[in-house]
Amino acid sequence: MGSLRNLPPVDEILLDERVNHLLGIYNREFVTGKIRQAIEQIRNEIKNRDQELSRVELSSIIHDRLELLINHAGTGTLRKVINGTGVVLHTNLGRSPLSKTALQYLTETATGYCNLEFDLVSGERGSRYQHVEELLVELTGAEAALVVNNNAAAVLLGLNTMAKSREVIVSRGQLVEIGGAFRIPEVMKQSGAILKEVGTTNKTYLSDFADAVNSNTALLFSAHPSNYRIVGFTEEVKLSELVQLGRECGLPVMEDLGSGVFYELEPWGLNAEPLVKCSVSSGADIITFSGDKLLGGPQAGIIVGKRNFIAAMKKNQLTRALRVDKLTIAALEGTLLEYLKSTPAQAIPVLQMLTTSVEVLRQRAEKIAGLIKTMIDPPEAIKVEVTPVDDMVGGGTYPVHTLNGYAIKLSFTGMALEDISRKLRLMNPAVLTRKQDNQILISVRTLLSGDDILLVKQIARVLQKESISVPK
Ligand SMILES: *Cc1c(COP(=O)(O)O)cnc(C)c1O
Repeated sequence: MGSLRNLPPVDEILLDERVNHLLGIYNREFVTGKIRQAIEQIRNEIKNRDQELSRVELSSIIHDRLELLINHAGTGTLRKVINGTGVVLHTNLGRSPLSKTALQYLTETATGYCNLEFDLVSGERGSRYQHVEELLVELTGAEAALVVNNNAAAVLLGLNTMAKSREVIVSRGQLVEIGGAFRIPEVMKQSGAILKEVGTTNKTYLSDFADAVNSNTALLFSAHPSNYRIVGFTEEVKLSELVQLGRECGLPVMEDLGSGVFYELEPWGLNAEPLVKCSVSSGADIITFSGDKLLGGPQAGIIVGKRNFIAAMKKNQLTRALRVDKLTIAALEGTLLEYLKSTPAQAIPVLQMLTTSVEVLRQRAEKIAGLIKTMIDPPEAIKVEVTPVDDMVGGGTYPVHTLNGYAIKLSFTGMALEDISRKLRLMNPAVLTRKQDNQILISVRTLLSGDDILLVKQIARVLQKESISVPK
């Protein structure tokens, strides 16, 4: 108990010259708060200890803790992650990494002024929505386009604009839930539209839709079953059939496409996701999709379709609440411009990862494994191999499709696997791996250029038992 008496007060620590350099970087309020926190933590840790610590010893312990706390808080919590999971559109890891052009547009726009809502030709006020609209029209063949915060917002806005207080007909096989929080029935409720379910889980016919149409029907709705598949005896209504019915009854058709592909992925065996262009040419009136799934851009909800409906959405007060900022517009414009070029699959990281050949992946895995081996001392402590793995597209797309990939396989003797993968996670940049049986797998497909050497260094650091300091 004696030690508590020797704890230095906040003022004394604050006046200590070891704190001077911190005060040169951070403001006094922040540093004082962290000193209090450090003293409090140390107080709790020593209160049941018998051994008495002197004032000098306690000061030193508190200063160490203070450094840790400030380093932690002063750098924020968002950090780079080396994705070794083999899941390309990892929702928890921020979905799609941006292309170089997107980054360039983003930096330029972020660090200066831009013509976000200014028409440079007329010299008058312009609209933030004009910027990517022309590109989206060009790339999809639609009449008009609008971009909002994310696809959930796009669906909400579409339903609210086109079907408030009126009925929307949806197949029971398409009442999707994505990412835990986006559920068609809930979004429908929030939008003020009335959900009219038809058909069954596995079979819905066009006649189910036709029978449900009444004077209060506003919209025929189709949702892409992004993250699941119904297999066996199934029947779903084709978009083109729905459009046909809509024309006959004078009702618009809206499709929640989910991912929204602009680039033909069929040559790489990925043919389950419909192209946006195809949905547009099927005649759907409104189509919505995400900017950060297979499109490979920033988080955004893209709405394309008929001019009159898009115009009504732009006027909807909700649009102001769901609007995108200049950074999203800049990154999206940079991304879309890549699709005008002849080689988008090389420029857009997501497409590049999906189209890399298995042989290239194997060679990359061999190379990294070789580098890791040269850094392990003693070499027997850990087995480094290369193994084929199944990678995933992720992001709620291609739920049953795996990609043939390659991984570096680390097996250990006398070391706890949990402990190693935790240490890798806690580094900066963090390394996220897969566990299989009693091994750590690092899939190379999802490593970005420049990650290879970083990864090797981080693994070497962990295996050399270099301690990583993490404040409690
Ligand atoms: C992913 C997805 C959404 C949600 O999109 P966000 O951009 O994450 O809001 C909605 N509907 C479908 C069908 C999806 O696949």
